[in-house]
Amino acid sequence: MPMLADPSQKYKGYTPVDLPDRKWPAQKYGKVPIWLSTDLRDGNQALANPMTIEQKTTFFRQLVKVGVKEIEVAYPAASDTDFQFVRGLIENNEIPDDTWIQVLTPAREDLIRRTIDSVAGAKQAIIHMYNATSPTFREVVFRNSKEETVELAISHTKLVRQLTEECTAKHGTKFRYEYSPETFTQTEPNFAIEVCEAVKATWGKAGPGEDRIVFNLPATVEIAPPNHYADLIEYFCRNITERDHVIVSLHPHNDRGCGIAAAELGMLAGGDRIEGCLFGNGERTGNVDIVALALNLYTQGVSPNLDFSDIQSVIDTVTQCTDLPIHPRYPWAGDLVYTAFSGSHQDAIKKGFEAQRIRHATAAQEGTPQYWDIPYLPIDPADLGQSYEAVIRVNSQSGKGGIAYLVKQHLQLDMPRKMQVAFYQVIQEVSDREAREMTVEDITNAFRSTYHYGGSKFAGRLSLRNFKISHEPGDDPNDSGDEAPGRRFDGTVSVDGVYRVVRGNGNGPLSSLLDALKAHLDLDFAIRDYTEHTVGEGQDSKAASYVEIVPAGDRKSAKSWWGVGLDSDIAGSGLRALISAVNSAIGDRTLPELKLSVGFNAQSGAEDVASLVVNALGLELPRRLQTSFFEVVQRAARESSGEISYEALTNLFKSTYRFQSGTDAPTATFALGPFKLKSGEGSKRTFVGEVVFNGQSKAVTGEGNGPLSSSLASIHSSIEGVLTIREYSEHSIGEGTEVLAASYVELLYEIPGQKKRSAWGIGTDTDISASGIKAVFNAASSLDVVVKA
Ligand SMILES: [Zn+2]
Repeated sequence: MPMLADPSQKYKGYTPVDLPDRKWPAQKYGKVPIWLSTDLRDGNQALANPMTIEQKTTFFRQLVKVGVKEIEVAYPAASDTDFQFVRGLIENNEIPDDTWIQVLTPAREDLIRRTIDSVAGAKQAIIHMYNATSPTFREVVFRNSKEETVELAISHTKLVRQLTEECTAKHGTKFRYEYSPETFTQTEPNFAIEVCEAVKATWGKAGPGEDRIVFNLPATVEIAPPNHYADLIEYFCRNITERDHVIVSLHPHNDRGCGIAAAELGMLAGGDRIEGCLFGNGERTGNVDIVALALNLYTQGVSPNLDFSDIQSVIDTVTQCTDLPIHPRYPWAGDLVYTAFSGSHQDAIKKGFEAQRIRHATAAQEGTPQYWDIPYLPIDPADLGQSYEAVIRVNSQSGKGGIAYLVKQHLQLDMPRKMQVAFYQVIQEVSDREAREMTVEDITNAFRSTYHYGGSKFAGRLSLRNFKISHEPGDDPNDSGDEAPGRRFDGTVSVDGVYRVVRGNGNGPLSSLLDALKAHLDLDFAIRDYTEHTVGEGQDSKAASYVEIVPAGDRKSAKSWWGVGLDSDIAGSGLRALISAVNSAIGDRTLPELKLSVGFNAQSGAEDVASLVVNALGLELPRRLQTSFFEVVQRAARESSGEISYEALTNLFKSTYRFQSGTDAPTATFALGPFKLKSGEGSKRTFVGEVVFNGQSKAVTGEGNGPLSSSLASIHSSIEGVLTIREYSEHSIGEGTEVLAASYVELLYEIPGQKKRSAWGIGTDTDISASGIKAVFNAASSLDVVVKA
């Protein structure tokens, strides 16, 4: 039969309690209940496959760990497994001293006896006896009158009292008593109170504090809205005598989906204790969920006295023991409850975190509480041992805010808004194409490959090897040189794997690199947007830069390219960001190749020659050495009708600077023999070694403020005039264990009566001091110095 047009002909509805002056709606929420877990009894009874003793033991330990102090462990008379489980807990000392185990029994003599036997020897236990009190059960199930129902409760309470006293005498076990008028919510309120009064009188030992008798008032089946349950609880609390000798225990089930609400309103109405299960396991729709109740309190700033710092371990235990999953949308515990998929939510969360960081920093300074206030996140997932990674997940519904948040979380890069829009399109294309949720790794990898960011794996066609930004004036002879506003970029850029030495001028580092790219690679772009921020703190902090480029002369271009760069140096980070953007812009466009022959009249310049040297020998020549060598090349080219081959040029370089022939070459004026450097105070060094002057070996020493000046001093003792170091630079060649130091020294020679002369020397060595000293001797050898007689 389908749903009725008039269900009132089939369903009666509940009978409200007449309580016009109810007080509970005005009570303040926040009273922490005594928690009673009935996972191992009510919950276990409801499983298709009840837990094994091992599973119950694991579950018990988890409850203890969470901090539950009253645990209903079994219905011992119902099954041998339950009986043995209780014995095991006691005999294996599983129960902490501050924890009460509770066992359930119906009002039947043999079952009560077996129940009390099960707990004999425990330090303390609660005997929980019940009988059904509602009209349906009285009239239909048991065919008992009201009087007989009361009498049943009285006589069996008497038995519980007698048997527990005997047990205490024999085993020392301390007892408390809990009585349930089962089906309380369907029982006439006054009759429920009548039964409970009779039980209390019979027990005869109810007192204040720990001696209180527990009256459990179950919504065995939830048949009414939660306000009805609260009315019943308030009515009971008002009318039961010796209220301070009674613990009012709430036991809501969840048939109408209001178990949590019933428990919370019931607490307002006077409840002291809540019986429930973790994540709401239990008959039919389950018992009320203790985790949700506890975390509801927690997020109001009230400690629930239960610890869910590692909620995942609780979830794991419960799901493994009950073999029931937790719905992904389940309050506080579901897989998706801290996840935002939608763009507007993600954006709000990202902004919330940013604002909160600032708010917390201020609060920390002022010593005031660092309140949690994040849109869509009523709790900090970290409090439950959950990571933020799950907070924002990306599917085709997601927005730029969420993606930007993930990039920030994982790469520490805070993209400017316009770049977020650009990167969002990249992600959306991938997400649409693959029709799936994007993982954090998908997103960070897409970021790296889009912007050629983070490691050689993601490198683009262009990459910046080294650079120098100087204030040098331009080549304009009218430029006086003082207070020149311009900057010059000198650097080595790898272009499709070939090193190119490039140079450009501009108002700043970025414009001078743009100029260099235009001059050497025919790449003509302009910068439309540039921002930067620091990453990290203190000495390890770096600068992150973001650059947007457009085709030169088209600032309103619809097409633009973003780039990102990270460097310890702020100019370096900007330059890297520019190279990153250019990489996106050039795609697979053909770039002008490095000229492999140099014609004197051709367009080849000092940079092309320097590019050839860096490619052939790995030497990144300082700029003035480039100029100096270019003059040598021009002279040589003149003699060979304006053309010089790649190989001839390399050989010319080697012979000019004695490179790879060594300072021990017979042509050297000063050949370096074995030497040592002795350290003195501070940077003081003493050079002690053998030097061959024009073929004659001589022991020399020299002192100075470092390896170079001390080796230079050792030469001075043998020559007329003065040698000084005009310029020095160094870099490394290769990587890892193969790495070499390359040093470049320009020496100036002054001797009375002669014109000043200068020469460059180059040295390489695995040791950086040795490479510098070799460069000094090479430079000295190139100068026609006057040796003392
Ligand atoms: Zn129940």
